[in-house]
Amino acid sequence: MVVYRCRHCGRMIGEYAGSWDDPLLGLAQLPSEDQDALITCIAPGQTQVSILCEHCLPVPYDEGLWYN
Ligand SMILES: [Zn+2]
Repeated sequence: MVVYRCRHCGRMIGEYAGSWDDPLLGLAQLPSEDQDALITCIAPGQTQVSILCEHCLPVPYDEGLWYN
């Protein structure tokens, strides 16, 4: 099973009841250095994927800020 967790705030984003190398997830196609950075084995059969949640993603460019 795969658990997606925000690497910034630690919030659980989602989980997937399959293997991390399921082609659906696309993780197995990443370069191995990206896999090392994103994927952690937290328990036998459990993999954690460290990504950023929507709250921790860099703030999108906001045209309004330009005028403030
Ligand atoms: Zn977050």
